[in-house]
Amino acid sequence: MAVCAVGTLFRVASVFAQGQELPAPEAWAALDRGDAAKAAAIFRDELDRSPRNAMLYYGAGYANFALGRSDAAISLLKHAIEYDPKFVSAMVLLAQVAYQSADLDLALRTIEKAAALAPADRRIAQQLEQWRKESAVHNSLEEKLGTHFNVLYEGSTDRALGDHVAKVLESAYWRIGQTLSIYPSETLNVILYTNRQFRDITRAPAWAGGGYDGRIRLPVGGALRSPKSLERVVTHEFVHAAIRSAAANNVPTWVNEGLASYLEGPDHTWAAQVIKAAPELIRMEDLVNGFDEFDGPTALVAYAESLVAGQLLCEKLGPNVGTFLQMLGSGHSVDQALSTHNVQPDAFYAEWRKRIGAK
Ligand SMILES: [Zn+2]
Repeated sequence: MAVCAVGTLFRVASVFAQGQELPAPEAWAALDRGDAAKAAAIFRDELDRSPRNAMLYYGAGYANFALGRSDAAISLLKHAIEYDPKFVSAMVLLAQVAYQSADLDLALRTIEKAAALAPADRRIAQQLEQWRKESAVHNSLEEKLGTHFNVLYEGSTDRALGDHVAKVLESAYWRIGQTLSIYPSETLNVILYTNRQFRDITRAPAWAGGGYDGRIRLPVGGALRSPKSLERVVTHEFVHAAIRSAAANNVPTWVNEGLASYLEGPDHTWAAQVIKAAPELIRMEDLVNGFDEFDGPTALVAYAESLVAGQLLCEKLGPNVGTFLQMLGSGHSVDQALSTHNVQPDAFYAEWRKRIGAK
């Protein structure tokens, strides 16, 4: 099995500057209730009327980011900063979007500007320090460029491993693509770290064997040294990347980790064993928002239960897993997306509970 940490964006600080009147209030209200498509449409109309309004660009950038349109979000946020060169919130958001799109240079440049404008903001200062550290590590690595993947590794020691990871990824690309009907078009960055760099840069919990947050991060040593577990870990992280390309947001952790754990390899017996031995089962509601808070043994149960759900999704949805994920990404709930694909949500959850042996 392969467990990993999937990164989430830190919440962007409220844009509601004290005492400042907000343009297009109904668009912000739509954003607030998660209707990013509606918000984006209103912001677009408002920008036609006021094409130099930095706050409207910011809102439009935010909405597009929520819709998974990173390129559009980056361009809109750049406009926001162009029209208001002291717009720190827009810089913080632009830096985050750039970072998630694996553009560390732009992220770093932008957060540097924000830090200069808001020197007392500790969160910005910490982010800047973290990314500087990461940039220094990456600059010391060698890069192998491919069509679907760029692999970064320590040139003096890990070239063979880097080559192998690239091969495994290329085959996972087509195999997983076929299963999920998702073929990510953007080149994905994959970085091989020493174990210490991995903990340092990802701040992943100790049980994590890999991570995905816009690029795949893998600790060299341990799992990667065994060919079989290398394949699982690498495939697992690639599934996260494929899911992200179909649905940038709004994917419950049990869906994300469930599909990754189910599709990482052919052997699923560990999950049944973990569930059988678990002192306590976890409810589906507690598998929605990340596993980072769980300790090692609990996280294992969470992965095992998610795997069962991931398998069930694949069985029930067949070739429609990709469109199911796209529906989640555009703001639909799991229940809505299941129903659209003729899967009764209640029956789905009942079957899941039966399979994990819950009462
Ligand atoms: Zn994972």
